Amino acid sequence: MQPVHESVDVIIVGAGICGVSVARLLQGQGTVTWNIIDKGRSVGGRMATRRVAGERFDHGAQFFTARSDNFKSLIECLSKEGVVKEWVRGFKKDSEKSSTIADGNDGFPRYVGVEGMNQVVKHLAAKLPSEHIHLQEKLIGIDILGENLGLRCESGNTYAARTVLLTMPLPQVNPLLDGLSTDSVFTDVLSQIRSVDYDPCVALMGYFSQDEIPMSLMPYKSENAPISFVSDNYSKGISKVPGSLTIHLSPEASRGLFATENEFIKDFVCEQLGRQFGIKTVSKPTVYEVQKWRYAAPQAVLGKPFLSWQTRLPNGPKIFVAGEAFSGPKIEGAYLSALAVSAELLGS
Ligand SMILES: Cc1cc2nc3c(=O)[nH]c(=O)nc-3n(C[C@H](O)[C@H](O)[C@H](O)COP(=O)(O)OP(=O)(O)OC[C@H]3O[C@@H](n4cnc5c(N)ncnc54)[C@H](O)[C@@H]3O)c2cc1C
Repeated sequence: MQPVHESVDVIIVGAGICGVSVARLLQGQGTVTWNIIDKGRSVGGRMATRRVAGERFDHGAQFFTARSDNFKSLIECLSKEGVVKEWVRGFKKDSEKSSTIADGNDGFPRYVGVEGMNQVVKHLAAKLPSEHIHLQEKLIGIDILGENLGLRCESGNTYAARTVLLTMPLPQVNPLLDGLSTDSVFTDVLSQIRSVDYDPCVALMGYFSQDEIPMSLMPYKSENAPISFVSDNYSKGISKVPGSLTIHLSPEASRGLFATENEFIKDFVCEQLGRQFGIKTVSKPTVYEVQKWRYAAPQAVLGKPFLSWQTRLPNGPKIFVAGEAFSGPKIEGAYLSALAVSAELLGS
């Protein structure tokens, strides 16, 4: 196998918040060469925003919180740069006493990307040399080539590096590593990767009538009902049209509807919105799109910031696995995992 790209120290697979943050830290230090590959058409991963009939809708992660000092400093910087802003301090929720919607303000800030969630990662990536970011490159296999690893992509391109960092959801890591080694450390890494199951999420984006669903009901979160989250992209400031809603179904409802047609999902969502909001009629949107996330969120997190394995050869190549399945199942967790794995890659 002949690498078509010059061998680098580290190849980062995945240009979500984790992968892009690692690239920034490596770039900042300046001594470690790197490339990112991602199967998507743009960076962002599950911090995803798309246009539906001209307006922007966030359809993956809807917001983020910041609890750790490290993540708070990043958010502070990004706020100053005008990339993120506080959105709300809590969500409307099902009332415990009646069938009404209650105010859930808990005083804790929730942040969003000023121009959409994917713009946060795009902004971080914009400061990196673009020749090291390779999009629409889907990794399909890894080979051990002496002191290097060879990465085979669906496009036919191959990349080589001493170290590979995988940042996608763990069920997508599993087939890439399966069969690569039989040593006991590797077997343990693989069994930890296989121990984490993910919940799916079916998301519907569409234009709804504000006369029927008032904006005062949003953003809405439910712990138990089939619709788990409703947010208004107008209130986020990324759509100019009131009633531009993103609706997420719960893991249970998403599992049940994952294989069904979008038309059926739309009907289900409208009926369910009526039930959960206590509204008689919810007209079906004429303009809508459905996104099905097979691996939206891990059901558990591994109690360490990343996993690593090295071949037993002297100077043997290394594989790292990082992301939100390690330091918390959210954007902040993905960032904290990135900080920890970067420190290891930089040898500090
Ligand atoms: C519907 C939904 C709602 C969510 N809501 C919230 C929320 O409100 N708040 C919050 O904090 N978090 C939320 N999350 C979780 C949050 O989005 C993730 O925790 C975070 O974005 C994970 O970042 P990451 O970089 O670890 O992974 P990802 O963002 O998944 O990045 C991994 C990247 O790897 C790429 N990739 C995968 N396989 C391959 C391959 N074979 N070859 C090349 N590239 C590959 C993908 O294209 C992707 O870009 C939500 C997620 C979803 C899906």
